[in-house]
Amino acid sequence: MIAKVVTDVSLDREFDYLVPAELESAVRVGMSVDLRFGRSKRTGYVLALAEQSSYPAEKLRPLDGISTERAHIPENLISLGRWMAEYYCCSQEQAIRTLLPSAVRSGKVRAKSRRIYYICDREGAEKFLAENADAASAAQRCAVLRALLPGGLALEQLRLVPDFSRSSLSTLMNKALVAVKEELVRREPWSEGEVLPDAPLELNEDQKKALARVDEIIRPDAEKRVILLHGVTNSGKTEVYLQAIAKVIGQGRTAIVLVPEISLTPQTVRRFRARFGDRLSVLHSRLSDGERFDEWNRINAGEVRIVVGARSALFAPVKNLGLVIVDEEHESTYKQSEAPRYMARDVAVMRGQMEKAGVILGSATPSAESMYNAACGKFILCRMPRQVAGRPAPLMHVVDMRLQPAPEPGKSAVFSAELLDAVRQRVEQGEQCILFLNRRGYARVMHCEQCGFDACCPECSRSNHPVNYVYSRSRATLSCHLCGSVVSAYEKCPECGSPDIRYSGTGTEKLEAMARGAFSFARIARMDSDAMKSNEDYEEVLERFRRGDVDILIGTQMIAKGLHFPNVTLVGIINADQGLSMPDFRAPERTFQLITQVAGRAGRGNSPGEVIVQTRQPDNDAIACAVNFDFDGFSEYDLEFRKMLDFPPFTRLIAVHFRGEDEEAVRSYGEEIVKALSPYVLEGTSISAPLPAPIERIKGKFRYVVTIKGRKLKVLRQALRILALHRVPPKGVEMYVDVDAQSIM
Ligand code: ADP
Ligand code: ZN
Ligand code: ZN
Repeated sequence: MIAKVVTDVSLDREFDYLVPAELESAVRVGMSVDLRFGRSKRTGYVLALAEQSSYPAEKLRPLDGISTERAHIPENLISLGRWMAEYYCCSQEQAIRTLLPSAVRSGKVRAKSRRIYYICDREGAEKFLAENADAASAAQRCAVLRALLPGGLALEQLRLVPDFSRSSLSTLMNKALVAVKEELVRREPWSEGEVLPDAPLELNEDQKKALARVDEIIRPDAEKRVILLHGVTNSGKTEVYLQAIAKVIGQGRTAIVLVPEISLTPQTVRRFRARFGDRLSVLHSRLSDGERFDEWNRINAGEVRIVVGARSALFAPVKNLGLVIVDEEHESTYKQSEAPRYMARDVAVMRGQMEKAGVILGSATPSAESMYNAACGKFILCRMPRQVAGRPAPLMHVVDMRLQPAPEPGKSAVFSAELLDAVRQRVEQGEQCILFLNRRGYARVMHCEQCGFDACCPECSRSNHPVNYVYSRSRATLSCHLCGSVVSAYEKCPECGSPDIRYSGTGTEKLEAMARGAFSFARIARMDSDAMKSNEDYEEVLERFRRGDVDILIGTQMIAKGLHFPNVTLVGIINADQGLSMPDFRAPERTFQLITQVAGRAGRGNSPGEVIVQTRQPDNDAIACAVNFDFDGFSEYDLEFRKMLDFPPFTRLIAVHFRGEDEEAVRSYGEEIVKALSPYVLEGTSISAPLPAPIERIKGKFRYVVTIKGRKLKVLRQALRILALHRVPPKGVEMYVDVDAQSIM
């Protein structure tokens, strides 16, 4: 027998090894094996087993053995990994690495155990207690035995027993009444506090319809495996997920629930915990290596029926998978930004297909891709257009900022008169407000009134393409949001020495300062990635807001999603046009989603909510449709626009990126690759010349991109994969492939 093995050396190659006869019955696909590679001892994973090798048998080396130290990858995941390597043009090793958390892969983290003392001869122990009940000399030994009768204890627990002594324990062990064993200890990840169990709710009609379709997709012989659940916020999607999961675990199967990292809050987890208790494992980014190791092993051992987590939870080693749920399926964070650049939503659909499991993609604002797949009949579309309990939708007001009176000199018109009034009124009534601005920092541009100098990042700017520094007043710094470089703010213009410096453009930091001026009566907090240094900061601000110690919460997209605060009755969107000017075909979609989501934060309690949308483009389709809750209208418009420009979902899009400090070398390597690909460019496929990316330069590196579009790209993708992994670019030039690119910035 031959094992095709991928080693931990990144070569994107499978190597053939002989399986020694004594291992033949034990070796399986996915197992971690010890082997010799060149002169070194290494480990590898078995990707496949075969009868024959294309190499002569005398040239093959035998496997040294099956690794006892490293985890084995379940076979079903190996198939998924191989598909990912092929589809996303990454190496086999990168794909395999994605399947296992590094804590598990490294072999460095060990299971934690402790020594437990227990009664090994119950009859003898009881006899000893009966015979020595009154003997003062045996009091210590009796105390130890009595403490151990209900179950084994660790030494530190025994020490708490009155009358305990080491010597009495030793005596009992010598008498063979007590023994000691190593017991695994599970490192307990954060707990959500005490969670009381709850029962399934009586479903409404829309929910019942959706749940009925779940039966169809979880059948082993199902024709369609994917439901696109388009339900407005508060329509009860989560309740449908919970009951769908209950169905599959009732069949003895398992479920995986993916949520965006940012929504993986204790609030979310509690709902799953209340329904499923210990059968649930939560994988979030704050787990320590040890906790992650333990959770993985618990899942792998079949102790867990449901896994909830962010993107990588998709690779949880559950067996007998029945259902994968991808909540907020439109989220761009499901796309991994480094290799393998996979889209978890799409890989979830693939895993479902491979393991005959159903897949539910849920969202209030489904992605254009999923709407298209539903329209083509690939996905089953279920709609839940109504909120539970008939809560009224929030009132949406559009304020056209072009019609606002000009601000007094030296002041900027951040708040419209309508927003000023509304906030004042809500705070006076003891209600809470959210002010949303998707731009952090204080001001965008530091400008010299004397000579016209604008502060720009020298590493990211080009002569015709300035990249402005963002000013932070509290830190007195200028920073570049592209490359992250930071310099101290200038007190005088570095060009002409004038102190006459003006700042324009508004970020959340400035918004906070202005809000403190305009609403001096209110308690204000800000939440964005500048203000939040850790997850504890984040939780702390949310907790204060929840308790009602904050009246106005200001923030970026960090506060747009998932938060449930019943006392928030007003949401102000400061500049709804923010993202529209980005040179990105998803800009309208993101704008629509963001407004819809932020608006969903208002009126989640008993009082109806109100949303004030400030914009200079009230007629823009994305904004107008969002304000009218017109998802279908927007979807139609967006799909039309993408069809016209030949963008996904009407075509597949691969972006090939080239980077380096020497612009000419970068561009010409791009050309070389385009040329090498030309034989594979079939009819209906287009490939661009290497063009400067919309963000042309970051940190001194020039960025070029080749875009490939077409419906059938398999052959071209295979060629591209070989080029990307096996051709060596000139020194100082990097190349990487982004299949199904979310953006080509
Ligand atoms: P979504 O996930 O679509 O935002 P949720 O499932 O969180 O919606 O439901 C919103 C609220 O309505 C939750 O508080 C939930 O407990 C409640 N809810 C959901 N379904 C029902 C139902 N059938 N009957 C009563 N309350 C429900
Ligand atoms: Zn100047
Ligand atoms: Zn920069």
